[in-house]
Amino acid sequence: TDYAELVRRTIRSVPDWPKPGVVFRDITPVLQDPRTFRALIDLFVYRYMRQRLDLVAGIDARGFIIGSVLAYELNLGFVPVRKQGKLPYRTVAEPYSLEYGNSAVEIHTDAVRTGQRVLLVDDLIATGGTMMAAVKLLQRLGANVVEAATIIDLPDLGGSANIATTGTPLYSICRYD
Ligand code: 5GP
Repeated sequence: TDYAELVRRTIRSVPDWPKPGVVFRDITPVLQDPRTFRALIDLFVYRYMRQRLDLVAGIDARGFIIGSVLAYELNLGFVPVRKQGKLPYRTVAEPYSLEYGNSAVEIHTDAVRTGQRVLLVDDLIATGGTMMAAVKLLQRLGANVVEAATIIDLPDLGGSANIATTGTPLYSICRYD
């Protein structure tokens, strides 16, 4: 069977969450089913196994689940890109705007070395604000962000188009229009 189609049809769409009018794309059923979880990770593994990467960076919090398993399978280290205020050591932060208010992503200053080839992973790209901030943060530490990878793209929200303008390629397994 088609792995991407299996993943897509296993994602649960929850109407009116977290607020009326929003359809939340819930990946927990993908993680819960061993065959689908493996299909998801294998799609990423086959794409990146020949890419000579140095690190996988995952975005807080669902990007940690996918990113850490992928890093393990690719024999790479894993680096967390966290919400502000969670990391204990010296950090750099990159602010971004949300629909209401602002937020920031943060990383340890020694998490990446100049020139390292980094794959950035999250579960979903909507407006792209989170992914863009994470790309900038990694680039500020001198990383070469080889690609940004996500399970789900919501192209109508413009995030994938925004990322395209930065020169960092975006890969997604499925999309909802
Ligand atoms: P963006 O910054 O692109 O607007 O929003 C993407 C971020 O919000 C990601 O970190 C993602 O985990 C989270 N997010 C927003 N909407 C959804 C959704 O419908 N489903 C999931 N799984 N995550 C979402």
